[in-house]
Amino acid sequence: MKITYLAKLGELTLKGSNIKSFEQQLVRNTRDFLKHIPVDVILRAGRMYIEAEDEYSEKIEFCLSHLIGITGWARTETCEKNIEAITQTVTKLGLMAKENGAKTFKVDARRSDKSFPMDSYEIMRASASGLFDDGSLKVDLHNPDIIIYVEVREKCFVYTNSHIGCRGLPVGTSGKGLLLLSGGLDSPVAGYRMLRRGMRVECVYFHSYPYTSEEAQKKVEDLAKTLSTYGMQTTLNILSFTDVQMLIKEKAPESWSTIALRMCMMTASNMLAKHINAQCLITGESLGQVASQTLENMAVTESMAEIPLLRPCVGLDKEEIVQTAYFINTYETSILPYEDCCVLFSPKHPVLRASIEEAKKIYNEINPDELIKKSFEERVVKHFYANEAL
Ligand code: ATP
Ligand code: MG
Repeated sequence: MKITYLAKLGELTLKGSNIKSFEQQLVRNTRDFLKHIPVDVILRAGRMYIEAEDEYSEKIEFCLSHLIGITGWARTETCEKNIEAITQTVTKLGLMAKENGAKTFKVDARRSDKSFPMDSYEIMRASASGLFDDGSLKVDLHNPDIIIYVEVREKCFVYTNSHIGCRGLPVGTSGKGLLLLSGGLDSPVAGYRMLRRGMRVECVYFHSYPYTSEEAQKKVEDLAKTLSTYGMQTTLNILSFTDVQMLIKEKAPESWSTIALRMCMMTASNMLAKHINAQCLITGESLGQVASQTLENMAVTESMAEIPLLRPCVGLDKEEIVQTAYFINTYETSILPYEDCCVLFSPKHPVLRASIEEAKKIYNEINPDELIKKSFEERVVKHFYANEAL
């Protein structure tokens, strides 16, 4: 049996003359996501339709719940464009809901096809009659157990379960960024927030094996994989920073070690960004969250960046970050106990308000650029694709 999913386009509908390129990117992303299964993806008047055999419904639903650029989606019943067929379909869905315990309902109708002889209000009244005339369900306009949606377009679509989409702009419409991805809660959320602005996101992770465990790296790989299900694909660049960390430990004052490490990460990220043509760096920093994230210390980090440094979590509190982490399914992975490199080498009394001048002086004394270049050249690269998750 063929089924049809309907997705509502989000913010991109606000785009003026270049709306086409946003729509086309959304369709490309959807087709790419579903490229291993036979589906038709059709775009028409602010809606995207996916048609396929019922056996693929689980995969299509996975795609739609990860697809950035749609505000909502639903599995629909399609029917002929006449009020008898609509009423029959509304009644069928209403009775199914009744079996699942619903007692009250309302119909919400929309008529995009203005040649249809009834207006939305008339469609609502007429199509609801099959359910309330024989008392199957009661009408409740304010707080119904179910809402049955009817959309009269080139065909007629009827559905009850509408799901919230990821919203945002389709990935691939806003350039490319390099995300510094650690194993914590914040950086995956930062990456997701930029994906939702339409950015392609590639990742870099710095480890200090054997001071950090293989599990810590596996955790970051899992996070990158999860991000790829929203970002269509992502690449994780893994750099060994063990020698850089040892050099910092040897040469920098202990209280400066975290700041020095951040500066080294920026140097490496600059190199990598240039190599992959990323136009900005992204971190999960949130103002005041930890010692290294005071305004002064963030200014030091930023002073090393050769391209814009974006911090999408900067004004979020922990609760907001956690909520998003739950939503995008990174929470359980992020809270696993394996530490990333920063924690093991972190000083007891870190400098809270570093000056850029002093930080640069210490950086020059450490003189880490050769070692950083080596870690960049010896990086390991892993690729993750959204359609592999199906
Ligand atoms: P997170 O929850 O993202 O780990 P955090 O609260 O632990 O952040 P920090 O450890 O100060 O904060 O790191 C700040 C940011 O620096 C991170 O959000 C991340 O973008 C980057 N970062 C830190 N450690 C690493 C690492 N080992 N590899 C890549 N990026 C890192
Ligand atoms: Mg961290």
